[in-house]
Amino acid sequence: MTASAKAIKKELVEIGKKLEAKGQVIGPGGNTSARLGDMVYMKASGVCFEEAVAADYVGVSLKTGELVEGKKKPTCEKLAHLNCYKARPDIGAVVHTHPAFSVAYAWLGETLAPFTPDFVAIIGSPVPVVKYMLPAGEVIAGKIMEAVRTHNAVLLENHGIICVGKNLKEAYFRALLVEDSVKTVLGGKILGALKYFDEKQVRELDTSDFEKYRRALLKKQ
Ligand SMILES: [Zn+2]
Repeated sequence: MTASAKAIKKELVEIGKKLEAKGQVIGPGGNTSARLGDMVYMKASGVCFEEAVAADYVGVSLKTGELVEGKKKPTCEKLAHLNCYKARPDIGAVVHTHPAFSVAYAWLGETLAPFTPDFVAIIGSPVPVVKYMLPAGEVIAGKIMEAVRTHNAVLLENHGIICVGKNLKEAYFRALLVEDSVKTVLGGKILGALKYFDEKQVRELDTSDFEKYRRALLKKQ
């Protein structure tokens, strides 16, 4: 195992524990991965984030999908992870969680639209909903692949969310912010007031120097 593989596994362990501590997953739910060249390190099947150690993150070949490093069986959502990297050569990490409010929001079947500067800068795209399908299959992995081509985060009906990022930090923050944004929408619906950004407001933020600066910091490993 190379030094950088060791560093990636360490980060996967740390982020997994944070996801659990922040209530984004329960027990063996959810999974994360990070790419190193043609190798994708991902959580092994059935392992709980809170208990996972470096050996619970196994190396899978991006090209063949075969287990190359480690002894455990990769997550059953392996195909979805591999498809994200195939769809987006620019990304280096995938965070998939099962957060309660996002699961509820997905029932609306409505794309989550941007409404704060953080949403525009961190998530960086609207968040569409992929209709429920049995997890772990090729069909759902194909739908996820289609959606992440043009989006950094996707809601999975009756399931959870999947976020991609240049690195683990970016994918992790995106996952937290999707769930947080859904809570805000829920608050807005309770209060009876909701204001989404229009295209001009999104463009203004997208092209602002201060957001470019914040984004560049996030993309640094
Ligand atoms: Zn899942």
